[in-house]
Amino acid sequence: MLEIRDLHKSYPIGDSHLHVLKGIDLSVEDGEMVAIMGSSGSGKSTLLNIIGMLDHADSGEYILDGLPIKDLTEKKAALYRNKFLGFIFQSFNLINYKNALENVALPLYYQGMKRKERQEKALFHLGKVGLTDWAHHLPKELSGGQNQRVAIARALAANPKLLLADEPTGALDMNTSYEIMEFIQQLNDEGKTILMVTHEDDIAHMCKRIVRLRDGVIMEDTKIDQVRAKKHV
Ligand code: ADP
Ligand code: MG
Repeated sequence: MLEIRDLHKSYPIGDSHLHVLKGIDLSVEDGEMVAIMGSSGSGKSTLLNIIGMLDHADSGEYILDGLPIKDLTEKKAALYRNKFLGFIFQSFNLINYKNALENVALPLYYQGMKRKERQEKALFHLGKVGLTDWAHHLPKELSGGQNQRVAIARALAANPKLLLADEPTGALDMNTSYEIMEFIQQLNDEGKTILMVTHEDDIAHMCKRIVRLRDGVIMEDTKIDQVRAKKHV
C-alpha cells in the first residue's frame, strides 16, 4: 500500500529550523491497521500529513499504491488524495452549516458525481454508521460520537484505499471512543487499510501493529494481538 524511505522534514523557525522527521522508513501492506504513537510534538501529525499528501517531505521517498509521490502539481495531488485517501480528524472537521448528508456528499461533489447519485451514496454511508435518521441534522445538533461517525461516513464515501486518522478518539469519552474504534475495526475487517495516530495505549492496542516515534525516528515497530473494542458498561 505504501512505502517510505529515509523521509526527512524540518520546519523553519526564525533563522534556524526544527528537524521533526529524521529519516523515517515505513512500509504498510494492504489490509493492515497501524497505530502511530509518540509523545506530543514527536512528529506524528507531520508524518500523517505527508502520507496524506497534505504536506511535503524535504527529502526521501514516498510511494503510495505503486505511485511515487514527488513534485506533483496541486491539481494532481488533489486528484490522488480524492482517489486514494480518506481522512478522520480529532475535531471531526465537518462543515458546520451543512447537515450530515451534505457533509458526507461533499467529497463526491469534488469527484464530479451527479447530485442524485451523491445523495444516494451519502445516505448509504450514513446508514452504515447508523445515522440514517440524523441525515438532515447539523453538526451542532449531534453528539461528538455521532459527528465522528458522520466524518467516518464522509471519509468512506469516496471509497478510499487508505484511511488516515489523526487522534480520531482524542475528543471523545471512553465509551464513545470504543464505539468509534469498533467501527474502524469493522472497516479493517472488511479489508480497508488503516493508519491511525493516537497517544492512548488502549486505542493503539485495538490496532494490529504499533509504530513508535521518538526524536524524529521510529524507535519500535511491532505487530500485536488486536484487542477488540467493546463498550464499557
Ligand atoms: P505530534 O502530532 O506528534 O504532536 P506534530 O507533527 O504536530 O507532532 O509536530 C511536531 C513538531 O513540529 C512540534 O514541535 C510542532 O510544534 C512542530 N510543528 C508542527 N507543524 C509546524 C509548522 N507548520 N510550523 C512550524 N513548526 C511546526
Ligand atoms: Mg498531532
